[in-house]
Amino acid sequence: MTISEQPVKRRQDYDGTSPFPGAEEHAPAGRAVVALTASIVILPFIALGAVIVLAWGQGIALTDLLLAAVLYGVTGLGVTVGFHRLLTHGSFTARPWLRVALAIAGSMSFQGNLIGWVAVHRRHHAFTDQPGDPHSPYRYGTGLRGQLRGLAHAHLGWLFTDDRTPAERYAPDLLAEPAMVRVTRAFPALCALSLALPFFAGWAITGTLYGGLTAFLWAGLIRVALLQHVTWSVNSLCHVIGSRPFKTRRHDRSTNLWPLALLSFGESWHNGHHSDPTCARHGLERGQLDPAGGVIRLFERLGWASDVHWPDAGRLQRRRTDLRSPASAPGAD
Ligand SMILES: [Zn+2]
Ligand SMILES: [Zn+2]
Repeated sequence: MTISEQPVKRRQDYDGTSPFPGAEEHAPAGRAVVALTASIVILPFIALGAVIVLAWGQGIALTDLLLAAVLYGVTGLGVTVGFHRLLTHGSFTARPWLRVALAIAGSMSFQGNLIGWVAVHRRHHAFTDQPGDPHSPYRYGTGLRGQLRGLAHAHLGWLFTDDRTPAERYAPDLLAEPAMVRVTRAFPALCALSLALPFFAGWAITGTLYGGLTAFLWAGLIRVALLQHVTWSVNSLCHVIGSRPFKTRRHDRSTNLWPLALLSFGESWHNGHHSDPTCARHGLERGQLDPAGGVIRLFERLGWASDVHWPDAGRLQRRRTDLRSPASAPGAD
């Protein structure tokens, strides 16, 4: 089919600044898909408004915030350690039970089903910031208007387009793995579980239905919204704002953006990641906070992870951009 292949043929002509060929052509998704995606994106914010009204003058129970923090951690690590570093890039080998557990935890983050997520992200690495990239902020060119439009597209606009990424092409390894196919199929059930858990935990802990409801809002919908926007910010902001200490492929403008490091579990060291995609650590420099890398280190010490691709000092040095040269333009590789 053509939608995903057209840009591949045209990308040889890409000059690095113009809008992508065919940028205006993308077919809008069907009504049902748009309605579903819109409700997933908008509902958590309606929930935020609702919870502020509910909590007005009464404060917010500590239980809600603790449950939110725990679920943010579990699902966030599911995405970063599981979906991204393990299943997309194979940066380490996990015990089979851990592989399944991480796949389940990531699925509970409302970021699409496992195999779909991996396929889209592999395609992003294959065509980074060139025609064919499913969510590049450079889609509409580098002029101010095009850049702002591109940021919106890279953040969440791309979710509303019918630009299918064939899993047969980008994730045949996971399609051949029965456990991963089962987790992928269970995605809707795992989403329901992700919201039901805080509700019942809140109800059980406080002994009131009201306690269950506030936990559902804070540790359910609002927690989902926060993690979604942090992940989307890596797609949008971490290709536009920040530093580029390491060389990447031609046209690749990924950046390191420190303010998002903690909330993104280290994923915002995105230039480091694009420079060495199979490395288990994304924060390659000293002092760069990378909680997901720390968790992989812990898994390794516990004997649950092996063959971990840790940064290689020699390779790192070779990938450094010359900071003194003002011409260290993106894509100098
Ligand atoms: Zn990227
Ligand atoms: Zn990646």
